[in-house]
Amino acid sequence: MRYDFVIVGSGVAGLSASFMLAERGYRVSLVGLPGLTSMVAGSSSGILTYHMREPFLSWAIRTAEIYESLGQMIVEKVDSVWFSTDLDFVRAVEVKLAEKGLRVRRDEEKARELLGSYRSFEGEKALVADAFRLRVKDLIDALTSRAVSAGVAILEGWGKVGDGGVYLKNERIEGEVIVAAGAWAKEVLGLPGLIVYKCQAARLGSPRLWSMVIDDVLDFYVNLFHDGTIAVGDGVNVVTATPEDALWPDKALLEEIIERARKRGIIGSYEVSRYVSAPCVGTRDTFPLVGELKEGLYVLTAFDGVGFSIAPALAEALADHLHRGTPLPPQVDPKRELEPGEPVEPVD
Ligand SMILES: Cc1cc2nc3c(=O)[nH]c(=O)nc-3n(C[C@H](O)[C@H](O)[C@H](O)COP(=O)(O)OP(=O)(O)OC[C@H]3O[C@@H](n4cnc5c(N)ncnc54)[C@H](O)[C@@H]3O)c2cc1C
Repeated sequence: MRYDFVIVGSGVAGLSASFMLAERGYRVSLVGLPGLTSMVAGSSSGILTYHMREPFLSWAIRTAEIYESLGQMIVEKVDSVWFSTDLDFVRAVEVKLAEKGLRVRRDEEKARELLGSYRSFEGEKALVADAFRLRVKDLIDALTSRAVSAGVAILEGWGKVGDGGVYLKNERIEGEVIVAAGAWAKEVLGLPGLIVYKCQAARLGSPRLWSMVIDDVLDFYVNLFHDGTIAVGDGVNVVTATPEDALWPDKALLEEIIERARKRGIIGSYEVSRYVSAPCVGTRDTFPLVGELKEGLYVLTAFDGVGFSIAPALAEALADHLHRGTPLPPQVDPKRELEPGEPVEPVD
């Protein structure tokens, strides 16, 4: 079988790249494991993150536009309370979002009102802004049906990357290869600069939560999850040797995070309905890897826990690069020097 592009990995990155290339006129096949996709994507809290520095912010804004083109149902707008150590930075984010027509209210008064009984620390500032969260399962379904209608051939199984193609169950699928394998990119490509770590959250059964809280002072978030439970997750990275090692949540750490949210008054009494953990992947400089590794082999991975917020924009940049030769953002060049080790500062 011969295609123009064979994409390995059916997560948000691979699905996005597949329909974008197919809609530009290429023959595309996507090799993936839906079970693994639902494990990583389904664990995710679906927060579209905007309090990021450039160029992450522009990628996040473009991603929001791409999601809008898939249909409103997958994104919902919520009040988001941020405890921000750096309001000047947030102001810059707000100006940029407003330029793009995305509404953001900076409202410290409203934050205090919403916080109600939340205990904030002396001199600490909080603000409320319009924020967006995803119904992740609906998003994956929407991306999959867009890929199918664009003519992408979706092939199920574990692909092995070879020269000029991908092997799947002893069959050789020829074409230029794009590896969008998430945390598995490390072993699929043998890239030493990738860091695999646990992205984890606990789901709580208590229903009282009217807004999403992102506490970048104490490094946690609290968010209403799509099954009606509350997701309490962390910004603390636990680095693991393999993606499989990231499947076991660090319960002690998660309990500590829940406790921090409880002490703040964000959650009251709670019951843990389940702990979730899945591998995320990042790089030491926190920029993802997007572009050509060698002739006919491309990579699209390492989104540092914010894949839903930025991966589709980078998939589009790669599709445009392949189609029209437009330059890719220089920061994401996969051939840049990447040392192994812990991330310097996660963006999430
Ligand atoms: C608990 C948790 C909370 C999170 N919260 C957020 C959040 O609030 N906001 C946000 O933006 N992001 C969040 N994330 C991160 C987000 O889920 C990821 O960044 C995103 O899913 C990465 O997408 P991807 O397509 O790069 O990789 P993945 O979704 O990991 O997809 C890669 C896919 O590649 C496939 N694959 C790998 N190797 C092979 C092979 N050899 N052959 C075939 N298939 C292969 C597998 O099917 C796998 O599903 C969270 C993640 C977790 C676990």
